[in-house]
Amino acid sequence: MKVLFTGIQPTGDIHLGNYFGAVANWVRLQGDYTSYISVVDLHAVTIPYEPAEMPGKVRELATTLYACGIDMERTTLFVQSEVPGHADLTWLFNSITPLGELERMTQFKDKRDQFRATVNVGLLDYPVLQAADILLYKGEVVPVGEDQVQHVEFTREVARHFNSRYGDTFPECQALLTSTPRVMGLDGDAKMSKSKGNTIGVLETPDQIWAKVAPAKTDPARVRRSDPGTPEKCNIWSYHKLVTPEPELKLIHDGCTTAGIGCIDCKKRFHANLMKTLDPIRARYAELAGDRRGEVEARLEANAARCRAVAAETMLEVKGKMGLKKVWKIQS
Ligand code: ATP
Ligand code: MG
Repeated sequence: MKVLFTGIQPTGDIHLGNYFGAVANWVRLQGDYTSYISVVDLHAVTIPYEPAEMPGKVRELATTLYACGIDMERTTLFVQSEVPGHADLTWLFNSITPLGELERMTQFKDKRDQFRATVNVGLLDYPVLQAADILLYKGEVVPVGEDQVQHVEFTREVARHFNSRYGDTFPECQALLTSTPRVMGLDGDAKMSKSKGNTIGVLETPDQIWAKVAPAKTDPARVRRSDPGTPEKCNIWSYHKLVTPEPELKLIHDGCTTAGIGCIDCKKRFHANLMKTLDPIRARYAELAGDRRGEVEARLEANAARCRAVAAETMLEVKGKMGLKKVWKIQS
């Protein structure tokens, strides 16, 4: 089977963008590939964070992924900082990465603007660490949201550079998108992001979600209930497409364009449909974070050990090719 690798940062709770843009694919594809999913805490320390909160966030994120349907048997879910190879390989890749390529990255420019007071080298080097994450396991398929496609392309470049300089070692990976690769935030202005706070979290209660959805922006031209709306200009319509089945979607589209239904009714229907996806996730989370907490932790420990073994093999090969093998070891 081909190798699938992907990651998610412990920077906050999993939201609808993560779920419908990426995690749903991870669940769907896990039987078809040798799947590695990493909670990428080494990426998360590139923006301001509270060290005392990090262990809890890592555990919660891993538990949420299992609650979303990641299978303990079929997927190797692990915590990035427990496998030293990620940082080791990053350093080696740094030496073949032109600085200009990193300065051009869209995510770097966005996060530099968002965290202007604390921009660090790690934020610039983020795509190199991501390339190391994927290539350490010789990942070929990388299911991500649209915002990460540029980083996957960059990973391909890194593999090409490495292979041409040191000999054929790494595969050229492909990004894999869902049918909704860019879910917008509640403000409708930017993509939904954990670090932007414009999210609907998959573990939030029905009331918490309704409190966010009820006042959310809709088509700005639809001022009165009697004004016909344009669904394509409405963020709630884009959310409907995530969870509402086809026949009902058509009713809502028609209802909006003829002023047959109002925005609040439309939002109530979205909320009800969303709960059909989220209720079981919330229930599974409660079980996994309660009685089954020890099982999750044991699984993460065992998976990290397995990843360390795979990573060690890749590092041996890479260091050998780069001439980082000791002469006395070669001779013996
Ligand atoms: P942060 O704001 O800390 O960067 P994030 O919400 O962007 O957090 P990540 O951990 O960076 O989440 O990304 C995890 C996965 O979710 C990636 O594959 C990413 O492409 C995908 N993803 C993130 N946001 C969205 C979105 N709004 N729509 C679709 N996919 C998304
Ligand atoms: Mg992100």
